Amino acid sequence: MQGFYGGGMSEQVLLLNATYEPLKVVPWQKAVQLFFQGKVEVVETYDRKICSVHLSMKVPAVIRLYRLVTFRHVRQMVKFSRETLFARDCYSCQYCGKRFERHELTFDHVVPAARGGPKTWENIVTACRRCNHRKSGKTPDEAGMRLLRKAHRPFWSPAILVMMNLNSRAPKIWADYLFDPSRAVLVSGAFDTL
Ligand SMILES: [Zn+2]
Repeated sequence: MQGFYGGGMSEQVLLLNATYEPLKVVPWQKAVQLFFQGKVEVVETYDRKICSVHLSMKVPAVIRLYRLVTFRHVRQMVKFSRETLFARDCYSCQYCGKRFERHELTFDHVVPAARGGPKTWENIVTACRRCNHRKSGKTPDEAGMRLLRKAHRPFWSPAILVMMNLNSRAPKIWADYLFDPSRAVLVSGAFDTL
C-alpha cells in the first residue's frame, strides 16, 4: 500500500467472513487497505508495526469482513487430486498422525486396490512412506494399524483452499480460525511458530 513502509515484510493475512469462516489469504497491504476502507475489523495482529507519515499500526494477522459474503458454490464437491487429498488430511499421515512435507506423502488405499478398493475419497487417505510401506497390500486390520479418522468426501471448503495456497504452513495465530477444534490435535503440526 502506498505511503506505508514496513521493512520489506511479506506477512499474509487470513480474511474471515462475517461468520468467522475463513475465506482466503491476502497480503498485509490488501488487509490494511480493506481496514481503511471500513470493510473489515482487525481480529488478530502480528507483533510487527507498519508506519506511515500519519500513523503506525500493528500488522493485521486475521481480519473479518463486516458484511457477509455468500457463495453459490459453497456445497460444491471438491475435485479429487493429490493436493485436495493432502489438504483434506492437513498434510498428516492418517496412521501415525505426523505431519510431513508434500513430497514425503503418499496415497494409501485403505482397502487395497488389488482387493478391489476403489480410488475414492472414502477409500484413499494420506500416508507417510513408512506407514504406507508397513501397511503394504493389507487392510488396516491385517496390518495392525488404525486409521485416525474415517475418510470422507469433503465439500468445498475455504479452509482447504487456504491450506493449499499457503504451501501447507500457516501462522500459529490463525489456528483458532482455520479449523474445527476437535481436529486440532491432527493439524497442530501444520502451523508455524510465528
Ligand atoms: Zn505415518
